[in-house]
Amino acid sequence: MTTSLLPVVGGDLRVPLVTGGTVPYANLDIAASAPALGSVAERVTQFLPYYSSVHRGAGHASAVSTTAHETARRSVGDFVGARPDDVVQLVRHTTDAFNLLATAVPGEVVTLDVEHHANLLPWAGPGRRTVTARPTLAATLAALDAELARRPAALLAVTGASNVTGEVLPLAALVEIAHRNGARIAVDGAQLVPHRRVDLTALDVDYLAFSGHKLYAPYGAGALVGRPDWLAAAPPYLAGGGAVRSVTLDDVAWADTPARHEAGTPNVVGAVALAAACEALASLSETTQVRHEADLRDRLRDGLAALPGVRLLRLWDDETDVLGLATFVVDGHPADLVAQFLSAEHGVGVRHGRFCAHPLLARLTGGAPAVRASVGLGTSSADVDRLLDGLRQLLTTGP
Ligand code: PLP
Repeated sequence: MTTSLLPVVGGDLRVPLVTGGTVPYANLDIAASAPALGSVAERVTQFLPYYSSVHRGAGHASAVSTTAHETARRSVGDFVGARPDDVVQLVRHTTDAFNLLATAVPGEVVTLDVEHHANLLPWAGPGRRTVTARPTLAATLAALDAELARRPAALLAVTGASNVTGEVLPLAALVEIAHRNGARIAVDGAQLVPHRRVDLTALDVDYLAFSGHKLYAPYGAGALVGRPDWLAAAPPYLAGGGAVRSVTLDDVAWADTPARHEAGTPNVVGAVALAAACEALASLSETTQVRHEADLRDRLRDGLAALPGVRLLRLWDDETDVLGLATFVVDGHPADLVAQFLSAEHGVGVRHGRFCAHPLLARLTGGAPAVRASVGLGTSSADVDRLLDGLRQLLTTGP
């Protein structure tokens, strides 16, 4: 029996069933957006009285807001082991982070075809070279190596873990391949960072992007952390107040990073919340977190694998670390109907669709939508059992 590891906001939510009455919500959609931790909500509540202008204004609340924003930036950088000269750009989410980085990369970008759209579309154009993932991870790494050796690229942009299969990529090996071939590496940490510690200094990763709403903080705050030089040389991501040193009607002296790319009033509440989530995870033992999620993952994946007509999606034949998620198709049952049935009849929330990774789904299912169940700090084994019971009922009696 695995119980929830940390309290999350909404952990006691009850939801209505079509059959009448209510049941506790079994939230198995953590990989899409994770509910805020209780400690994150507390930190936001403590900050709200100081809601005020940031980086401008001498009032007490302004000073507190400004300090809170910059302290949050440091906490976020510390959580991912930023080097002393790294820049921590506070952005809206991973998608924003890669769109920003795309304005700064001085050359071609190599990606894999299994990426989330956030790490495919910002690079679209003649400068993007996409390597097709091979049946094994080892062969996929060799293919990336060969592509980077064939023609130089400025950047290798890869995910740290697949949002569809949960498979974790070996960052140290990817860093070695990129650097040996003269490229930098950017890691899409949207899925990885909430579940495994990533240390930029130890791993020598150049850029890391991640989203607060997957990291037990609210929507609208994320980060791009990494080497300062490309970002310092890039044109401002947004033009406007806050990103400048001085302006005349004919000329602008743009600020240095991070202000250079953060025009407009910043999302201080989001930054405070993101930092609180980073600090909460940093103070939790990684081993404890990984064990909690691995127990739930094994219960989920083993349970699904035992159901007739359920096929788990996986990319690689070799053994890899897998996050606490499972994406699957059910023979004869369209994904949207499975998800609706689980919600309406069992109070279980899952994600269905093509997971913003259409090229990958085209490979794994021929483009058919699938269902994804995912676990996290607030999940218990009872939540997983409710999903498995629901699917068993679907398979024996139909919707
Ligand atoms: N990358 C991966 C691997 C993801 O799972 C997601 C979100 O689903 C994203 C990027 C995009 O995140 P966001 O929507 O927060 O920008």
